[in-house]
Amino acid sequence: MIGILGGTFDPIHFGHLRTALEIAESCGMEQVRFIPGSVPPHRPQPQASAEQRLAMVSLAIADEPRFVADRRELDRVGHSYTVDTLISLRKEIDATVPLAFILGMDAFWAFRSWHRWQDIMQMAHLIVMHRPGYKPDPTDWYGEWLASTTCELRDSSAGKLTFLAVTQLDISATAIRHAIKQGRSTRYLLPDNVRAYMTEQGLYR
Ligand code: ATP
Repeated sequence: MIGILGGTFDPIHFGHLRTALEIAESCGMEQVRFIPGSVPPHRPQPQASAEQRLAMVSLAIADEPRFVADRRELDRVGHSYTVDTLISLRKEIDATVPLAFILGMDAFWAFRSWHRWQDIMQMAHLIVMHRPGYKPDPTDWYGEWLASTTCELRDSSAGKLTFLAVTQLDISATAIRHAIKQGRSTRYLLPDNVRAYMTEQGLYR
């Protein structure tokens, strides 16, 4: 199974990295691809450039052989939609290989507003990770996709959804940017090599 973690990564932090590792281990994933988005349709524009965000992702994952930085959304002109990313990935990854799109509970709340979300479910599974401050959606609109166990995701290539209780790290890129602006330390919130890069590039000041 291959995991996909899309995000703005403005900047990447331990809330992305630790949870991705736990998911990779509990689902027996061979690989997790970190895919920074170019122009996210649902949110304000990132402060770091696309190349800077990709550089930070590459630094952060350098020591973990299962993690891969994937620049495909950055080379695309216009909006970066997850559905297009999955279409592009499926051209490279055999249709029989399970693909799992990983997202946090906050992002899952908005999932039904995503462009062609039903098509996303045709091409990948969804793994929703719990995130501090975000409760599960009480409606069961996703009931038809819900897997009874996480392992069930390995039995098919797409179309199942599961919730995973990962270590709860109340870290966000917003809080990191805010801390830098206020001159406070970001130590222990994200990898030191990413912090050094941010300082060198004068990011988020
Ligand atoms: P921002 O604060 O700028 O909105 P963010 O910290 O939420 O950024 P993103 O790059 O937008 O980071 O997140 C990418 C994905 O990772 C999303 O699916 C998001 O829900 C998830 N995610 C981010 N931080 C955490 C965390 N601390 N715990 C669990 N999931 C997270």
